[in-house]
Amino acid sequence: DSIANQIAAGEVVQRPASVVKELLENSVDAKAKSVQVIVREAGRNLIQIVDDGVGMTETDARMSFERHATSKIRSSDDLFRIRTMGFRGEALASIAAVAQIEMRTRRAEEELGTLIRIEGSDIKAQEAISCLPGTNLLIKNLFFNVPARRNFLKSNSVEMRHIIDEFQRVALANPEVAFSLFHNDQEIYNLPAGKLSRRIVDMFGKSYREQLNFCEEQTPYVTVHGYIGKPESAKKARNEQFFFVNNRFIKHNYLHHAVVGAYEGTLPEGSHPFYVLFIDIDPSHIDINIHPTKTEIKFDDERSVYAIMMAAVRKAVGLYNL
Ligand code: ADP
Ligand code: MG
Repeated sequence: DSIANQIAAGEVVQRPASVVKELLENSVDAKAKSVQVIVREAGRNLIQIVDDGVGMTETDARMSFERHATSKIRSSDDLFRIRTMGFRGEALASIAAVAQIEMRTRRAEEELGTLIRIEGSDIKAQEAISCLPGTNLLIKNLFFNVPARRNFLKSNSVEMRHIIDEFQRVALANPEVAFSLFHNDQEIYNLPAGKLSRRIVDMFGKSYREQLNFCEEQTPYVTVHGYIGKPESAKKARNEQFFFVNNRFIKHNYLHHAVVGAYEGTLPEGSHPFYVLFIDIDPSHIDINIHPTKTEIKFDDERSVYAIMMAAVRKAVGLYNL
């Protein structure tokens, strides 16, 4: 069974960044107001996530590491109404199969919390402890029991880039939650709770304060809102483009094309505009690939979404504000 667990884990946990993504989403699902992320050696030695969310009872804490133990879905119907980020109950079980875990968790209404130690899916210890309300997870020595995977991790700077990408996506989608990220005791981000525009400026720099245009378009089929960068702020790098569908980060080349097209040649040659755009749509109109690590989705009317996106961005760029 431990081999089966390791194989299943491979799907969810590809690298340290996958762990960061899953744990951040769990903290958001747990209604945390503040989430702290601490990593060492780009996550290969330590990933720690501390949240002030609802926490878990002793039973829930133990259950949370069982495969398909999710508290978030009650019937298959719920899949199409997913409002929480997690829905498969696979992340903690998968991480536990390939790492050493220490979890401290407490619900606010309970006096004592629970400490659980797990190593390669085996529960090594469980005891009642005093701790703050919320959940504090330590993931140590990722892939300690899968040397091939551990050896195939990339350099610290590449693995950190992936961690930062995942962190940015969750932090942008949840500006009302405070987030911080530390790497080897160095502060990478310290983002107070606030509005989306403030979150963008805190994350990408003060220069963005003058570079953002608000963007909004509503139709019965879909609504779009967010911020786009002024054409002159476009950059060569392609890592400051974010689409979220129902608050879930996605990649969508066709929609990216709509955004770029809306700038109508005002972008400097070979540059990509900044954007953080939220698309809200009835879940019955989308086909989410139910794979936990996939970020692609399909709309049942892609052309309409394309046209609405283009109209929204056009207005925001200001090309038609005569
Ligand atoms: P999923 O998120 O798909 O339900 P996970 O394996 O990520 O599956 O988590 C399993 C369960 O553990 C969750 O459904 C939730 O009940 C509980 N859980 C995980 N992380 C937290 C957290 N940070 N705070 C409170 N509960 C949590
Ligand atoms: Mg989850």
